Amino acid sequence: MKNTGKTLTPKLVKKLWGAFILLVILMGASYIGITSYFANMHNQETAQRLDAEVANHVISEKFTGASPFLEDGSVNKPLFGDLMHDMMAVNRGIEVYLLDNEGTILYSVVLDPNDSDATKSVSLAPITSFIADKGEKFILGDDPRNPEEQKIFSAAPYDIDGHKGYIYIILAGKKFQEVSNTLLGQYFAKLGLGAFLLTMLFSALIGLLAIWFLTKNLRVITGTVRRFHEGDLTARIENPEKSDISIFANSFNDMAESIVGNMDKMQSVDLLRRELIANVSHDLRTPLAILKGYIETLQIKRDTLSEQEKEEYLQITHDNVDKLSKLINQLFEYSKLEAEQVVPVKEPFSITELSHDLIAKFKVLAEKKQIVLELDKPQENNMVYADVSLVERALQNLIENAIKYTEPKGKVTLSLQKKGKNIEINITDTGTGIPVNEQPFIFDRYKQVNESAKKQGSGLGLAIVKKIMELHDTTITVLSKPAKGSSFIFNLPAYQTS
Ligand code: ADP
Repeated sequence: MKNTGKTLTPKLVKKLWGAFILLVILMGASYIGITSYFANMHNQETAQRLDAEVANHVISEKFTGASPFLEDGSVNKPLFGDLMHDMMAVNRGIEVYLLDNEGTILYSVVLDPNDSDATKSVSLAPITSFIADKGEKFILGDDPRNPEEQKIFSAAPYDIDGHKGYIYIILAGKKFQEVSNTLLGQYFAKLGLGAFLLTMLFSALIGLLAIWFLTKNLRVITGTVRRFHEGDLTARIENPEKSDISIFANSFNDMAESIVGNMDKMQSVDLLRRELIANVSHDLRTPLAILKGYIETLQIKRDTLSEQEKEEYLQITHDNVDKLSKLINQLFEYSKLEAEQVVPVKEPFSITELSHDLIAKFKVLAEKKQIVLELDKPQENNMVYADVSLVERALQNLIENAIKYTEPKGKVTLSLQKKGKNIEINITDTGTGIPVNEQPFIFDRYKQVNESAKKQGSGLGLAIVKKIMELHDTTITVLSKPAKGSSFIFNLPAYQTS
C-alpha cells in the first residue's frame, strides 16, 4: 500500500514551520531595531533634560576676579580652559564651546586648531529655539567634531560688556558616545537574545497550536482518503460544509459517490453480461444438438429412411439453422448497439410507407397463423426524422413479437398518429399479454416472461428495440393485459414538410 497520507501533512507542516520561523526572525529583528531606536532617543532626551541647565550654570558661576569668557574682547583662554577641564572632569561626556553671536566657535579645549575637518561654527537656529523653550523641548544641534552628526546640547547666552555670544555644551560628546555605544551594544545583545528567545518560545507554542488547528481538517480528510484508498468504500468526510476546506471535502465525497456508483453499475453490467453469455450459449447449444442428431441419423440411416422422413429431417435441420443464424445476427446486432458502435443517420422519411412495406413483408407469416395484420388509416402520410434502417429494425421486432405472441384469429394493428411535434407509433395485438410484474423487465436483455416464450425467441428483440429508442432520444412504453393483448408505443419527431 502506498503511503499517500503520511507525506501530505508533514510537508505542509514543514512549510508552515518555515513561514513561522521566518516571521519570528523578522519580528525579532524589527523589534530590536525599533527598541534600539526609541531607547536611544529616550536616553538622549533624558540626558538633555537633566543637563539642560548646565550652560546656564556656567554663565551664572560667580567668578572672583577676571571673567573666564572674555577679557577686553578676547577669550581668557587659561581661565576658560581651566573651567572646561573642571567641568569635563566631572562629566566626561560633555564638550564645552564658547560661541560668538554668529555661532562661530571662539574657543574650546576639545577642538584641535589643526583639525581641518572640525567646523569652526555651528548653526544658531537649534540654539535659539532651545533657549526660547528653556530646554524643555528635545532639540539636536551641530556637533563641531562630527559635522555630519546632530547631538543633544545645552546652551545659554552671555553678554559681557556688550560682547554677546553663547556657551554651547555638547552633552553627548565623543566620550559619552563611546561609553554609550559599548553599553548599548552589550545591553542590546542581551535584550535581543532575550527577546528573540522569548518570541521564539511563544511563537513555537502558538505556532504548534495554530498548525494543529489548521491541519486538523486536513488530517481528517487525509485519514478518510486513506481509508477509501485502502478499500473502505463507505469512507466519507463527515459534515463537509463545516470543514475549512469544504470544496475539497465536498469534492472528495462526490468523487467517492460516483466511484461507488460506477462500480455498482459496472458490477451489474458485468452480471448481466455473464447471464447473457450463459443463456446465449445454452440457446446456441440446443439447436446445434438437434442439428447434430438429425444429421447423424440421416448419415447412419440413409438407406432405411423413407423419402418423406428424409424430407422431414431436412426441414428440421433447416429450421434450426435458421434459428441459429437469427440468434447470431441478433447477438451481433445487440453487441454493436451496446458497444455504441452504431451512429444513427437521421433523415426525413415516410413512416407510413415503411409500415406498408413491413406489413406486406409479414403478411404471409400472419396469414399462416390466421392473424389479421393491418395498418390503421393507411391513406394518411406521416413523415418522421429518424434513422430509417434502425426504425425498420425496431418495427420488425415489434411486429414479429406481436404475431408470435398472438393466438390464431387474433389481430395485430399498426397505427400512426400525429401528436404535437411527434408521430406516435403504436403496435397493438390481441395476444397473450404480459403479466404486470413482468412488464418492467421485458426490455432487459435476455429476460423472458415464461418458459414457453423462452422456447420461441432469443430474448434480445426488445433489448435491441430499447437501444434503438435510446439512439433516437425517445422511450418505448408497454401497455398490456394478460389474455387481452399488448400495445407497444413510442414517438418519433415528425418531419415538417412546409
Ligand atoms: P423474444 O425473442 O423472447 O421474443 P423479446 O426481447 O422480443 O424476446 O421479448 C422479451 C419477452 O417479452 C418475450 O419473451 C415475451 O415474453 C414478452 N413479449 C414481447 N412482446 C410481446 C407481445 N407482443 N405479447 C406478449 N408478450 C410479449
